[in-house]
Amino acid sequence: MKVTVIGTGYVGLTTGICLAYIGHEVICADTNESKIRQLRDGDVPIYEFGLPEMLAACGERIRFTAECREAAGAADIVILAVGTPAKAEGAPELAYLYAAMETVLDGIAEKAAPTLIVNKSTVPVGTGDKLAAMAASRGISERVEIASNPEFLRQGSAVPDTLYPERIVAGGSPAAQAALRALYGPLLRQDFSPPAFAPRPTGLASVPFYAVDLKSAELGKYAANAFLAMKISFINEMANLCDRVGADVSAIAGMLGSDSRIGKAFLQAGIGYGGSCFPKDTKALHHIAGTSGYDFKLLSAVIEVNRFQKYVLVGKLRSALGTLAGRRVTILGLTFKPETDDMREAPSLSIIEALLAEGANVIAHDPVGLRAAKALLPAEAGTTLNLDEALQDADAAVLVTEWPVYLNYGGRTYRERMKRPIFVDGRNALPAADRSWLDYYGVGMRAVP
Ligand code: NAD
Repeated sequence: MKVTVIGTGYVGLTTGICLAYIGHEVICADTNESKIRQLRDGDVPIYEFGLPEMLAACGERIRFTAECREAAGAADIVILAVGTPAKAEGAPELAYLYAAMETVLDGIAEKAAPTLIVNKSTVPVGTGDKLAAMAASRGISERVEIASNPEFLRQGSAVPDTLYPERIVAGGSPAAQAALRALYGPLLRQDFSPPAFAPRPTGLASVPFYAVDLKSAELGKYAANAFLAMKISFINEMANLCDRVGADVSAIAGMLGSDSRIGKAFLQAGIGYGGSCFPKDTKALHHIAGTSGYDFKLLSAVIEVNRFQKYVLVGKLRSALGTLAGRRVTILGLTFKPETDDMREAPSLSIIEALLAEGANVIAHDPVGLRAAKALLPAEAGTTLNLDEALQDADAAVLVTEWPVYLNYGGRTYRERMKRPIFVDGRNALPAADRSWLDYYGVGMRAVP
């Protein structure tokens, strides 16, 4: 099939490359010309495991352009994958999506053949209907079909998540659902050669395909993210209680997770969720509920717990050091999670701001995210790519992102390098054997002194 993907961010680029990999003829289009130049040179502008290798394997089946209009006109299926960031009041900003849609409509205006426009961006219920209305206002409804195909990939494992999804959701008319089933056919049947770096998981024979109405697809995406955020906020509430009563949240998470009705995933207590999706999607769902006349109380609590949770570390640090004023604090990790360079809604930013506000001298390290972080960090925060240097003479270290380099550094080395061996682990991730070398504080496993 001829497919054009509008937006070459984490979702659009991964989708475009994977669709080309499984045999489609793909154009990836973006208004960001420097991104397109980089991609044309064979460089992948984001840090995502396996993506450069996948791109190299696609050969002539993929090309990149900043001419979004022409790219839309050349395709049977146009996928919209532009950003929908949160606005101040929590509602998602749909300006990029509507601008992209106008460009697509311009591109297909003169085209006789029908076009399926598939929205992959995370959007409020009813957005698909608005896209359909935009086509109708141009008098081309009969040649345009709108579908919703929400994306569930995780940054850091975007390629395997796309090649081996846990489900594919197709929202729209039966014809649109059938077209999406055909588009994703090789993934549904798993009849493509897996790339060497991402072998097919054992036991995966086919992928569930949910053919649903447009609105259910749109709302289902928010429901999935809100549910996962709820698990995180729940275990963090338990952790805060554990800190007060002297229980161990890791043991409790193990007990909870072994119940198949609950599941093990997303029960790691820590500093709460961040990133480009959970914060904005929980706020957006809350806003959607509010504007629909429904007070989603559970979600209000999930959001509030998460807002508070990142400051739990600051409190632990203050207690352990007596005061933060004049103390040298090393921040280990800036990105919102490991294996990505994404700094959107990274808890590290709020933690660093709070530490600086109390007079701490902050020095931050990240193996991948420094370039993106520098634009966002306050000028007073120091940064370095050298981990030894970051830890030298530190009064305390705070593990914010569990990059392997921090987990493999060794408790003894931390102790030798730092002035005082105070280690606050925001992810409860440091290996148990290393903790005994340090004055170690996790989340929900040792009462605040
Ligand atoms: P991103 O910010 O990484 O990429 C968006 C891209 O769209 C940018 O390259 C931007 O230049 C481009 N763009 C903006 N307006 C454009 C226009 N009018 N025409 C062409 N290109 C345009 O965003 P992302 O993280 O890939 O997210 C895209 C959507 O997918 C969002 O709605 C997000 O909520 C959703 N989503 C993201 C993830 C994730 O892990 N990042 C996972 C699931 C769903």
